[in-house]
Amino acid sequence: MNYVSTRGHAPVLDFEAVLLAGLASDGGLYVPEAWPTLSGDEQRALVARDYREVARAVTRPFIGDFDAERFGRLIDIASAGFAHDQVAPLRQLGPGAWLMELFHGPTLAFKDVALQLIGPLFDDVLEARGERVTIVGATSGDTGSAAIEACRDRGAVEIFILHPEGRVSEIQRLQMTTVDAANVHNIAVRGTFDDCQALLKELFADEDFRRRARLSAVNSINWVRVLAQVVYYAQAALALGGPDRPVSFCVPSGNFGNVFAGYVAKRMGLPIGRLLVATNRNDILHRFLQTGAYELGEVHATQSPSMDIQVSSNFERLLFDLLDRDGDAVAGLIGDMKTKGGFKVSPAVIARARAEFTSHAVSEAETAEAMARARRAHGITVDPHTAVGLEAAAKLAEPGEVMVTLATAHPAKFADAVEAATGERPALPPRLADLARRAEHCDVLDNDLDAVRAHILARIGRPNTLAEETSAP
Ligand SMILES: *Cc1c(COP(=O)(O)O)cnc(C)c1O
Repeated sequence: MNYVSTRGHAPVLDFEAVLLAGLASDGGLYVPEAWPTLSGDEQRALVARDYREVARAVTRPFIGDFDAERFGRLIDIASAGFAHDQVAPLRQLGPGAWLMELFHGPTLAFKDVALQLIGPLFDDVLEARGERVTIVGATSGDTGSAAIEACRDRGAVEIFILHPEGRVSEIQRLQMTTVDAANVHNIAVRGTFDDCQALLKELFADEDFRRRARLSAVNSINWVRVLAQVVYYAQAALALGGPDRPVSFCVPSGNFGNVFAGYVAKRMGLPIGRLLVATNRNDILHRFLQTGAYELGEVHATQSPSMDIQVSSNFERLLFDLLDRDGDAVAGLIGDMKTKGGFKVSPAVIARARAEFTSHAVSEAETAEAMARARRAHGITVDPHTAVGLEAAAKLAEPGEVMVTLATAHPAKFADAVEAATGERPALPPRLADLARRAEHCDVLDNDLDAVRAHILARIGRPNTLAEETSAP
């Protein structure tokens, strides 16, 4: 299996190179050359099977000549990071209505599912190549901890995460700073999240530093993150429908990475029914599916901050398919977005998109009401992102449809919003209950490029003889 860029002008790469490359050199995103399929018999063999077994079978066609046994061992390591044996357990809410809990990972949100695999995989591949990298990232609070948990104690990786001092929630800060690992470095910047992002951009733009530190990123557009998420769609669809009955999914969406994984599962021939894209007030995806116009707007702060985005980066992967895999056409539209703030597709293309996805935008009041209703009707506490999904599913589900709503975060991660909506403050799960009493590890630095650069170089203490770039930056 080889991978091509959505913009058509980057080298064709194999699985391992795509893992290390992240973004394609033409600015595009990597996707498989063709969608592999699982036959009816292959699917039947996976019905009600263990998560690890489904993961092996679903990912196998994508890993090319990467050793399948070695990949299987990495799946086991990733799964072991979850507090629930089935990684993504299903809970029934009513006839045909299900919740898939994706928050049993170390940082209590669904991004752990992919990052817990990427961390060991990255480390394993680098070690085999005799290479080490420095990962630098900036976070407004949410993804930083998932990246740190994925990379902690990995020998081939040093990770530095910048966050704006005093501007992330207490639990977000504690989830990052209480990690006690020699290769994990938290930097609190005296500034805003935008300052952190600007610093990151400058660090990556500094050729000399990039080489000396062997800079890398585990960002949201890495193909392997999407791949890891395909597994739970397959697992749920085969558990609830077998290969013969379609199962629909309702997905709280922001960057479109999660629901795109559902689309991949459908392309593979798995029994996926409708894919519902649930957004909060930041509804660029919903507006696109309504009108065919993809137009940037302002970002609104909501109770579901992990979906407060302006551009859905993974959406480019769908565009590539919608435009018959014409990389130049994709590059043209993305160019229009940068220069004109948006683009519009033809009625034929929008019809294709609507054949794959249905959408609904949920207001702040509806989100709070959905949290309250989940308690009243089902006796369960859900986080605001999950509530957006439940509200969309309630509005869009059809009679007789089997509908799985994805629970993307644990309620304790967004305790303020949950308490405001339900009157009850959700507690952290037992393994994190003592979080506030753990020692914190963090350096506070000025919003100053020289200071941050010197800080990183001093800690990686690495001679610059490792500087040769390979084909995979
Ligand atoms: C990242 C995130 C989302 C959005 O997922 P996308 O893949 O960006 O669409 C939803 N809920 C939570 C809790 C998240 O952390």
